[in-house]
Parts: sequence; structure tokens; C-alpha cells
Amino acid sequence: MITVENLTKSFQQNNGTVRALDGVTMEVPAGAVCGVVGPSGAGKSTLARCIALLEKPDSGAIRVDGTDLVSLSGKALRAARRQIGVVPQGDSLLRQRTAAGNIALPLEAAGMSGPERRSRVGELLDLVGLTDKASVYPDQLSGGQRQRIAVARALAAKPSVLLADEPTSALDPGTTDSVLTVLDRARAELGVTVLVVTHDMAVVRKIADDVAVLEGGRVVEHGKVLDLVAAPDSRVSSTLLPATD
Ligand code: ATP
Ligand code: MG
Repeated sequence: MITVENLTKSFQQNNGTVRALDGVTMEVPAGAVCGVVGPSGAGKSTLARCIALLEKPDSGAIRVDGTDLVSLSGKALRAARRQIGVVPQGDSLLRQRTAAGNIALPLEAAGMSGPERRSRVGELLDLVGLTDKASVYPDQLSGGQRQRIAVARALAAKPSVLLADEPTSALDPGTTDSVLTVLDRARAELGVTVLVVTHDMAVVRKIADDVAVLEGGRVVEHGKVLDLVAAPDSRVSSTLLPATD
């Protein structure tokens, strides 16, 4: 379970201070998939990066499975980071490493032995359906295949939480589905709690149980996807779904 309480984060820019997160409170139950939607600049990536411990919030609490992450440092912080898998926004694979080499990266960092690593990479390639692409370089993979490898890499260290930042942006609907299938398998087969940032409500409807709408660094709506889609005055149904749907 992910619990975020009153999280704030500001950035200094040339023209002053930007409040990227302005008191964000939300909860993702263990084993659930939560979508985070909202306009560009709403703070979605900042929220994901704070939960991933890649960005330090100015104030507030983040708990993953009961452990407060904000107060951690040193060894405990590194251990907590391993409990969180991240699929960063954009193309994040290393060009000079094969698909298998990219997935192996966090395992090497964790000091896993060669044979154990190869067997784990094999399991992960199987999970994302790309066993035949093990020795292929990212440039020779399609966009959807690259994202599936990025998900496999994020799951390598067996995290309890997976954060995926726009994992399907720039993909066509068919390719999007192949990535969503992999996220859904992570939840269904590995019991991972998933937070997926997206601008695509079709993605939310397909895989998310819950959805949070961020605007200007605040959660303006948060609830069950089914309830919000059905509620005529919810932002999810009135502003984020296509009128013709
Ligand atoms: P998008 O949909 O375009 O990815 P987002 O919702 O992910 O947008 P964020 O990347 O979280 O938005 O950015 C939120 C705000 O914080 C923006 O105004 C952005 O300019 C600012 N911001 C984010 N990261 C930094 C940074 N490292 N330095 C300065 N400002 C930043
Ligand atoms: Mg973003």
C-alpha cells in the first residue's frame, strides 16, 4: 500500500517558485492499480519521482507498506528504493546494452551472481513476452517492446510497488495494450501495487481500479474508476473522457 500525506514540493525557476505539489494526499491499496491523470505541469511526474525517492519532498509523508520513506537515509533509504520499481517518463533504456543487459542492470547493482542473474532475467523476459529479444539492442525494438523491457527492468529486484510514468505515451492503441497487459500481469501474478501516470483515460479505464486527478499540484478528484466514470459531475467523466464515448 502507498500512502501519501500532505506532500509539498517546490522548484526554483528563473521567474520564481513553482509549487509542483501543493498538499497531495492519496492512498493506493496494496495490489491495486491507480491511475494519475491531469494536464501537463500538474505535478504527476514530481509525485511519482517523490514516491520513488528520486526527489525529496519539502514536507509531508510517504509510506510504502507502512514504512515512512521521507525520514530514511543511508542504508535504509537504499533498501527502501529497491522496494520501488520505476519506469521513467520517456525512453529510458541504455542504448549500448541489449534488452537482457538493460534488465540485468539493477541486479548487477544489487550484487547478484552471474548465474542467478541470468535466470532472473530469463523469468522477466518471459513475463513481458520478449524472450526472443534478449540479445537485441533498444534501437532494434519497437516503442512498445522498449517499454515492456523498461517494465521488466523495473520489476527485476522484486519491488512491492511499481511506478510507471506515461508508459504508453506515443504508442498506438494495439501497442499500448501490450504494455498494459504487462502491467496487469505485474499486479495479478506478482501482487505489485501499481501507480501509472497517464494522459490517456483509455489506459485508466483498461487497467486502473482507482484514479486521481491532479491539477496545479493538488488532487482535485480521487476515487474508484467505475464510480467516477458513472458520476455525471465528476471531472473524470466530464473533462477527461471523450464526449462521444
Ligand atoms: P507532463 O504531463 O508534461 O509530464 P507533469 O504533470 O508530469 O507534466 P511535472 O513534471 O511534475 O508535471 O512538473 C510540475 C511542475 O514542476 C512544472 O511546472 C515543472 O515546470 C516544474 N518542475 C518539475 N521538475 C522540475 C525541476 N527539476 N526543476 C524545476 N522545475 C521543475
Ligand atoms: Mg510528467
